[in-house]
Amino acid sequence: MDVALCWFRRDLRLHDHAALYHALRSGWPVVPVFVFDTQILDDLEDRTDRRLQFIHDALLQMQAQLERRGATLHVFYGTPEAAFEHFARVYHVKAVYANRDYEPYARRRDAAMAKQLSAKGIAFHTYKDQVIFDTDEVVKDNGEPYTVFTPYSRKWRSLLTPFYCQPYPVEKYAHAWCRQPARPVPSLEAIGFTPTRRDFPPSDPEDALLRFYDQTRDFPAQSGTSRLSVHLRFGTISIRELVTRALPLNETFLKELIWREFYQMILWHFPYVEGHAFKKEYDRIVWRNNEAEFAAWSRGETGFPLVDAGMRELNATGFMHNRVRMVTASFLVKQLLIDWRWGEAYFAQKLLDFDLASNNGGWQWAAGSGCDAAPYFRVFNPQLQAKKFDPEGRYIRQWVPEFDTLNYARPIVEHEMARKRALEAYTKALKR
Ligand code: FAD
Repeated sequence: MDVALCWFRRDLRLHDHAALYHALRSGWPVVPVFVFDTQILDDLEDRTDRRLQFIHDALLQMQAQLERRGATLHVFYGTPEAAFEHFARVYHVKAVYANRDYEPYARRRDAAMAKQLSAKGIAFHTYKDQVIFDTDEVVKDNGEPYTVFTPYSRKWRSLLTPFYCQPYPVEKYAHAWCRQPARPVPSLEAIGFTPTRRDFPPSDPEDALLRFYDQTRDFPAQSGTSRLSVHLRFGTISIRELVTRALPLNETFLKELIWREFYQMILWHFPYVEGHAFKKEYDRIVWRNNEAEFAAWSRGETGFPLVDAGMRELNATGFMHNRVRMVTASFLVKQLLIDWRWGEAYFAQKLLDFDLASNNGGWQWAAGSGCDAAPYFRVFNPQLQAKKFDPEGRYIRQWVPEFDTLNYARPIVEHEMARKRALEAYTKALKR
């Protein structure tokens, strides 16, 4: 049977979906496929990783919708190469449709896939979907990429018209699915993982939350941010729908979505940031890299209540409030003088919303080594940050109940000494 395949990756939904829209209009019956990529899964140490539960839930939801249309998802466990060898044996595949992914691994994978498919005479079409503007759509007048956020965001905002937010009317083409009996989605156990808690944040925060976002977003004790990051990460919501909704409600919220695209764009144009400082001279810093201190930071036992609350929230839930991400990251890098890549890797393991571009951007911002980063001489004082953003200690008490008792850890470092030590290390590295 001649078919088109729609390959789902970080876009796990069946509405407002660029690749799916184009596949359904191709004229060939569309077979939706998902690959549990062993090249990614084999690297995950924790077999109770909740991201797998999130993905699995999203697939089940898609499958239920597909079954109502007489179609079915095909889930393959293995490498993408093996998956498409298999699909090409089962079907007469005319073309594969997918949405673009900007991470270095995904770029290598897709380049290899394009080659493999083309050798079989199969076209591979990719589309912009997870961002409003593609990597070359918001650039300086001379065509170069921006490396500073404010002018980037101004240009982004000036280019935004309803055209870019138009949803893809996938529903209109429901007749174009390949009709087949339902195939079960393999269980988590079948792919080597264990089912976990499923209390994921909802994908439709209330308008009031978005409307007052600028007033509430900095206080971790409040539910003042959208918690949409995991949905944006796995594409269970559409960025076009979200921007359309946010536009009349809150410019500050919109700006956060622009930060997300800024970091995607940076990762695309400067892929060396995976593993290296954006500003290369920052790779000369001599880190202390004390393993015991790193362990204390990871466990949330530094004796700095806001840092400890954040790390314990992360360990328990897979989420951490943005303000606290900034404080914990800055503490690791500046107060403890531990390589930002250690912290980046720890967050990558634990965050439900882990996204290479935003995580790398956030860590390099904290380390001062990123494009448009915090100046290196700015060293957050975690006590002052706590006073300012958690004045009643409500967030701290939630995660560090023992914090004002004698059982609480003593500070592992003295702030003023650590600040000076960091400045010395940075100055030494940067003046050479
Ligand atoms: P909201 O405040 O409601 O913001 C809405 C959306 O805007 C977010 O869901 C996210 O997609 C985007 N956004 C907000 N702030 C940023 C930002 N600073 N940079 C990029 N996008 C942003 N975000 C991730 O999605 N994945 C990560 O792995 C990640 N790692 C981070 C590491 C560090 C050290 C720091 C400082 C920040 C990191 N962020 C990361 C950015 C930010 O902290 C989270 O996006 C945010 O806390 C998610 O909560 P929310 O959905 O309630 O955000």
